[in-house]
Amino acid sequence: MDWGVIVAAVCRAMEGACRHVMIVDPKTETLSGVRFIYSPHCDDRPPDMAITLVVIHNISLPPGEFGGPAIEQLFLGQLDPTAHPYFETIAALKVSAHLLIRRDGGMVQYVPFTRRAWHAGESHFGDRTRCNDFSIGIELEGTDTASYTTVQYEQLANVLVALKQRYPSLRDVRGHCAIAPGRKTDPGPAFDWGRLANHLPSGLSLA
Ligand SMILES: [Zn+2]
Repeated sequence: MDWGVIVAAVCRAMEGACRHVMIVDPKTETLSGVRFIYSPHCDDRPPDMAITLVVIHNISLPPGEFGGPAIEQLFLGQLDPTAHPYFETIAALKVSAHLLIRRDGGMVQYVPFTRRAWHAGESHFGDRTRCNDFSIGIELEGTDTASYTTVQYEQLANVLVALKQRYPSLRDVRGHCAIAPGRKTDPGPAFDWGRLANHLPSGLSLA
């Protein structure tokens, strides 16, 4: 057999095996291969603050509509308040998340993981407040009641593996509803925590 044919076959096999392996680039603290656009809605974490928590959110703009540019515009501070009646109420908000996972599994990162994104708002986890200080915020494009897509669960699991590998201090994954009860409901009853549990990297806890 031709040596080149063997090499080509091995390369194809390796690519198949590695297709879903995701890593956080230690130089940029962003997911490699994922589109990155810097949100101005972030700042530094407090000094020596370990990242211990991942917060799962949902977002859709306008509410219940998927696929448009408005989420990104909101995170970049560029949402046009006149484009939709709902946008008037939120256009001035200075919010962001580290990562957005779209319905089709496409991802965009807006803040390096080591910086503080503004996603949790007034919140507490155990006896700690200000969860933005020590957490990573991941937005799933969705609503509280619409089933999330299979590829969103797959991507979320892949991302959690990469995050745990890069930030071993990570211990817990919670919904926004759990750290801001009474104020927030996302990711809502549509989010299947059992499904995530099946793919959770060791060392991370959902409860
Ligand atoms: Zn949220």
